[in-house]
Amino acid sequence: MEVREALDLVSRPVRELSPYHLVPETVPVKLNQNENPFDWPLPIKEEVAAFVRERPWNRYPPFIPDELRAALGESVGMSAGNVIVGNGSNEMLLVLLMAFAGPDVPVTICQPTFSVYNLLIRALHSKLNSVSARPDLSFDVPAIIEAVRRLPRSLLLLCSPNNPTGASLKQEDISRILEAHTGFCILDQAYVEFGGFNALPLLERHPNIVVTRTYSKAFAGAGLRMGYMIGNKDIIAELNKVKLPYNINFFTEHVARVLLSHRDIAAQRVAEIVASRGDMYSFLRTLPFIAVYPSDANFILVRVDGKERLFAHLKDNGILIRDYSSYPMLENCLRISIGSKSENDLLKAALRSFFGKGA
Ligand code: PMP
Repeated sequence: MEVREALDLVSRPVRELSPYHLVPETVPVKLNQNENPFDWPLPIKEEVAAFVRERPWNRYPPFIPDELRAALGESVGMSAGNVIVGNGSNEMLLVLLMAFAGPDVPVTICQPTFSVYNLLIRALHSKLNSVSARPDLSFDVPAIIEAVRRLPRSLLLLCSPNNPTGASLKQEDISRILEAHTGFCILDQAYVEFGGFNALPLLERHPNIVVTRTYSKAFAGAGLRMGYMIGNKDIIAELNKVKLPYNINFFTEHVARVLLSHRDIAAQRVAEIVASRGDMYSFLRTLPFIAVYPSDANFILVRVDGKERLFAHLKDNGILIRDYSSYPMLENCLRISIGSKSENDLLKAALRSFFGKGA
């Protein structure tokens, strides 16, 4: 068989996708992936290293990581049965879509949003239904309600706080949406520790919602690949059937528990990032951007004339941000992650020099 013929066998929706890609670059100030700027203290890493040295590598991790599930459940006032852990929240999204999506189930997402949703929905042969944000990039709640009314028993995938806009849904908004919705709802809360509201109390009245969370942002653990989801126990039991066995390795499982026991450190740093975000937002508003969008997450989206020049200028100054201008509604938009104090100062200086205010 020719390679061309083999390629023809790949399913049509997958062949038509553009890959999710990010060119790896090493720069002194990396503000392009919404990572946490603070690594964990060395003594904590050494505690983990001692465990890794002793733990046999030839043995599988626990079949069901119940200790970690229980610890995470307890941290949000629930129990192990409400939690599934996995290889980043991306994997949790895949598990959820495998269980709820499919050719007969349209999936509604609110654009612009995290592009992995589009990839997974199409790869699983579901029909994508998009609701656009308002011109100020806030959620258009009446349009979401109308969409779910029009599509009974469909799947709704919401991201709050939303990447890359930073907008979040209010608790009463999501309650109104859930009152109107007869299908399932996945709520991605990868950034919730930085702002927005905690959706978990909704679970009591609405068993048709599962919330996904991650260690990659507030928990400063992007390198671990650790995410989790929280939902009604009976729904979680069903989802466990499609999750791959041993999807989380022993290292990540152990580190996740250790970091959870040090969550006071993470919380302090989140508070610092949130304060820096407020400061950065005020600063950006003094510059001649077309728009600076308010954010509940650890990044800020801006719209600017000459975005290529600004992107290049920052890069020349060793600062990498993310270009979102090809996304729907995001012409000329760039997303800037909040860094450490010194990184933010370098960014401010480079922005001042770009806009001619003297560094
Ligand atoms: N959801 C959103 C909204 C994200 O921005 C990201 C990562 N950027 C993820 C999920 C996936 O995060 P991870 O797989 O690292 O948990």
